[in-house]
Amino acid sequence: MNKPAGAPAAHLTNFIRNVIEADLAGGKYASRTWGGRPGLAPTHAGAPADPAKIRTRFPPEPNGYLHFGHAKSICLNFGLARDYGGVCHMRFDDTNPEKEEQEYVDSILDAVRWLGFDWNANGSEHLYYASDYFDAMYQAAEFLVTSGHAYVDEQTAEELRASRGTLTEHGVNSPWRDRPAAESLARLAEMRAGKHADGSMVLRAKIDMSSPNINLRDPAIYRIKRATHHRTGDKWCIYPMYTYAHPIEDALEQITHSICTLEFEDQRPFYDWLLARLAEGGLLLKPLPQQLEFARLNLTYVVLSKRKLIQLVEEKHVEGWDDPRLPTLVAARRRGYTPEGFRLFAERIGVSKSDSWIDYGVLEECMREHLNQVAPRRIAVLDPLKLIIDNYPEGAEEECLAPNHPQQPELGKRTLPFSRELWIEREDFMESPAKGYFRLYPGNKVRLRYGFVVECTGCDKDASGKVTAVHCNYFADSKSGTPGSDAYKVKGNIHWVSAAHAYPCDVRLYDRLFREAHPGTGERDFLLDINPEAKKVISAQLEPALKDVQPEERFQFERHGYFVADRIDSKPGAPVFNRTVTLRDVWQK
Ligand code: ATP
Ligand code: MG
Repeated sequence: MNKPAGAPAAHLTNFIRNVIEADLAGGKYASRTWGGRPGLAPTHAGAPADPAKIRTRFPPEPNGYLHFGHAKSICLNFGLARDYGGVCHMRFDDTNPEKEEQEYVDSILDAVRWLGFDWNANGSEHLYYASDYFDAMYQAAEFLVTSGHAYVDEQTAEELRASRGTLTEHGVNSPWRDRPAAESLARLAEMRAGKHADGSMVLRAKIDMSSPNINLRDPAIYRIKRATHHRTGDKWCIYPMYTYAHPIEDALEQITHSICTLEFEDQRPFYDWLLARLAEGGLLLKPLPQQLEFARLNLTYVVLSKRKLIQLVEEKHVEGWDDPRLPTLVAARRRGYTPEGFRLFAERIGVSKSDSWIDYGVLEECMREHLNQVAPRRIAVLDPLKLIIDNYPEGAEEECLAPNHPQQPELGKRTLPFSRELWIEREDFMESPAKGYFRLYPGNKVRLRYGFVVECTGCDKDASGKVTAVHCNYFADSKSGTPGSDAYKVKGNIHWVSAAHAYPCDVRLYDRLFREAHPGTGERDFLLDINPEAKKVISAQLEPALKDVQPEERFQFERHGYFVADRIDSKPGAPVFNRTVTLRDVWQK
């Protein structure tokens, strides 16, 4: 996806695009070079001009599965790179040793590729791990100490907290703040060498304890933490803080636009301070990366907080990370949501500078729009009731022709076997019709879609009065597509499958995970808002062609919605189906 493309569509404009366009027009990046790999100034100095007009990045921490919010960030970062002849780096922000695992790395790469993006461009793979930069980060820390911009602080955690000040009160200078650089440098080396206990000292940037921005009050940049890292093992017992590591990662990778969510706005002054100091010291080349913040995705009827998602999985409110009810990308894929639908969604919701909620219906509508174009039509009876055509010869069968897509005749037609006993939807028959009901009731005629007109003659019932079968007679000269069949004027048109040929199958009817738009509003436990109807498994009767489909094939079941063959539970010749989305929004109030 990182290929240079033409100008973006005219409607695609937002404040981030405006910044990029102004930067490009002003030649801000004209002098940039690219040494072929991330690195400090010597890597890029004197290297050829950067073939990428801009560089963005998607930097997840590999500590969980990606969710719909990440999809917004992926589409944004990779989409900008694509539209402006740039490159988007896939970077694992794995500087925190404790929570990160290979399993997450693999699933994140899968999800990004599934969304339709990749990180190969200009003949190389832009897949990076922040942990590969630990040496450069340490070198930068040594520079900060030597140049008087950082010091080792030996106060206790308690003292550090107490001296930090509040929103209304200044912080207090540490007694270690003015120690000689040589002493801090020696301590830093000892910290690295494992001579000191976890938490006994930290390296702090020396900025301004009276700054109104708490993030500038000598923030910690390195801490001691004996933990095994998923890639660097036990090489390090000190690790950089996220706010220190992230700007350096961006700079080493020559990122031009570092796009993050709004909660990092207050960190921008530190981001700029840090990179400016390192550039002064010749460790980085200018122009430096710039941070731009946008509003994160908040979506109704789901939760996008990692903590809450973990709780749902661990407490088994859902059946795992890929349970189609969850708003994770692995789950969305099983549910039948499409990459195209997500990209459309990202484009439609745009990016803004202020937090707001997006209605879940917007996402569903994007999925419908894409599925409507690509999903072949099939017949499924979800609540089967027998229809017996008494005047149709026993044992006889014939074929009816049905289009695969009503708006796309080039997709051709398929045959539906027709016989004396069919399955129809239970709701398509009423013994005593309600007002305005024009489907099957005794004495009424309907068309069996793509087949014959039939006239209802009555029904069978069991001892409890439940209807067990409906009876009718058919009109042999009324078959759809045959001369004269139009002469039959009926109001009702119902779908059916031949009982002898049908594929009986479990179908999972998925719906929204929560029944409240804002789960857990106020003090309420969000678990109480789980929608108990979000998964229903029914025994359906499907047209025979649906028996031989591949996992992940998607269809519209006429009158019902969009369905997908489950990619995990389907067996060859025995797919099971998941409802992706209904045909219409049934949640609109
Ligand atoms: P945590 O909840 O642990 O802070 P996170 O959800 O921010 O994690 P990261 O792995 O740090 O997950 O996120 C990777 C990228 O995805 C970040 O650049 C972040 O800004 C972006 N991102 C995360 N959640 C959303 C969201 N709801 N909307 C848009 N972007 C998001
Ligand atoms: Mg985060």
